[in-house]
Amino acid sequence: MPKNAIVIGAGIAGLAAAIRLKAKGYDVTVFEANDYAGGKLHSETSNGFRFDMGPSLFTMPWLVDDLFKLHQKNPKDYFTYHRKQTVCNYFWEDGTSFSAPADSEQFITDAVSCFGETADDIQTYLDGNRQKYGLTKSLFLEKSLHRASTYWSKDTVKAISKIGGMGISKSLDQWNSQHFRNPKMVQLFNRYATYNGSSPYRTPGIMSMIPHLEMDLGTYFPKGGMHRISQSLYQLAQDLDVTFHFNEAVEEIVVENKRIAGIRTHRDYYPTQVAVSNMDIVPTYRRLLPNEKHPEKTLQQERSSSALIFYWGINHTFDHLDLHNILFSEDYQQEFDHIFNKKTLYKDPTVYINITSKEETSDAPPKMENWFVMVNAPGNHGQSWEELQASAREHILQKIHRTLGVDLKPMIVTELVLDPVGIEERTHSHLGALYGAASNTKFSAFLRHPNFSRKLKGLYFCGGSVHPGGGIPLCLLSAKIATDFIPES
Ligand code: FAD
Repeated sequence: MPKNAIVIGAGIAGLAAAIRLKAKGYDVTVFEANDYAGGKLHSETSNGFRFDMGPSLFTMPWLVDDLFKLHQKNPKDYFTYHRKQTVCNYFWEDGTSFSAPADSEQFITDAVSCFGETADDIQTYLDGNRQKYGLTKSLFLEKSLHRASTYWSKDTVKAISKIGGMGISKSLDQWNSQHFRNPKMVQLFNRYATYNGSSPYRTPGIMSMIPHLEMDLGTYFPKGGMHRISQSLYQLAQDLDVTFHFNEAVEEIVVENKRIAGIRTHRDYYPTQVAVSNMDIVPTYRRLLPNEKHPEKTLQQERSSSALIFYWGINHTFDHLDLHNILFSEDYQQEFDHIFNKKTLYKDPTVYINITSKEETSDAPPKMENWFVMVNAPGNHGQSWEELQASAREHILQKIHRTLGVDLKPMIVTELVLDPVGIEERTHSHLGALYGAASNTKFSAFLRHPNFSRKLKGLYFCGGSVHPGGGIPLCLLSAKIATDFIPES
């Protein structure tokens, strides 16, 4: 008879953990507080427009494919995607614009002509990013940092011996400024700090490996939109007979003699000896394990940035925009100072515009577009979000007018809004952080919570708030690392 295992939360990592536990022979039950699977990977429609509510950028799609292959299924029967030829369109207020090609040779040619950098300098920078990624991925992304065995491998010793030359003691901004003269080029590469919700003025230079993910490994668009990622995994889990309990939040993890005995919800008590929490690590301890000793140092780490997003249905089309577009702030440093230090929004924000109807025409009515308009925001520290939303809306519209020369306000025919409070309420993300803890120090990677409990036998963790971090690919890897610790049923 198979043993049972419980997963708390049906976010992308919880779904992946359930699928992996099934492959280990467990009878798996997932408890989800919401009435849908996917967590932050969720979609809504309004007046004929479809919006992906959370992630918009998809990298490393093979990590999704792996879950289908694990069960001898053809991923294409569930989920398809294509590689984007343009990574992102960048705009500055002085009229400069740059459309970043996915092909790195073309990127160099175009960047030389737009920013006046030399081809050699750009090539050296990109080669360095590739090397950093190659050296560190197995240590930081694919293994637990919390088991001695990780440090015995040849790869790890090599990575650690080279870490000093990877910009670990400089900020990403210092690292990029050392490589490029043109402040716009520096800004373009600084923006990758936001991929883990950090500040380029504080996150270490080793983070320059992130552009490698986009520029060499590629950016992708899933057919049907980002939401298809979570929905296809939900479908797979259903086909594998994983049981889902929606609208049933876990209220307590029951512990007996330092091992997991079961979980309690408002409906019932469910015994189990194996539980994987996909819930943010802070509320997992504070709410579900109030009587256990908490790893305070980990729980009190600075959180990543959050976001304020306007989902606008626009009754117009814009040929010079693509799937991913960025309108840069004139003072990036001030913007991050406002987000991380002043805990407020800057009057001249960097505006990210994602338009999935460029790829999927059915996402908007004919001759219209669905704009996901996001600014980075501080976490929810009790600010007056109603006021911040109202002023940010004006600042964003002014920014679009100054940069693209468009008066967008009269073109908005439908609007939804999500702020850090909404993100926190919908997914229990502590302070509404997008990516768990921030990576604003050189030790951040080592301070993330492990994928298992050191104190409670049978308790494991996956998702954006634990090792190796937030974002879809890392969440999928967290589910693998966590379930690799769990013996076969
Ligand atoms: P979540 O998606 O937060 O899921 C956790 C689940 O647990 C939720 O469904 C929640 O309801 C449930 N839960 C919580 N408590 C309980 C309980 N007590 N009982 C039962 N269930 C519970 N990543 C990218 O890769 N690319 C991007 O472009 C990108 N952009 C983003 C933009 C936005 C606006 C946001 C919000 C996030 C973005 N991210 C992006 C980050 C990415 O969405 C997350 O890192 C990832 O989806 C987190 O997945 P998860 O499984 O850890 O958790």
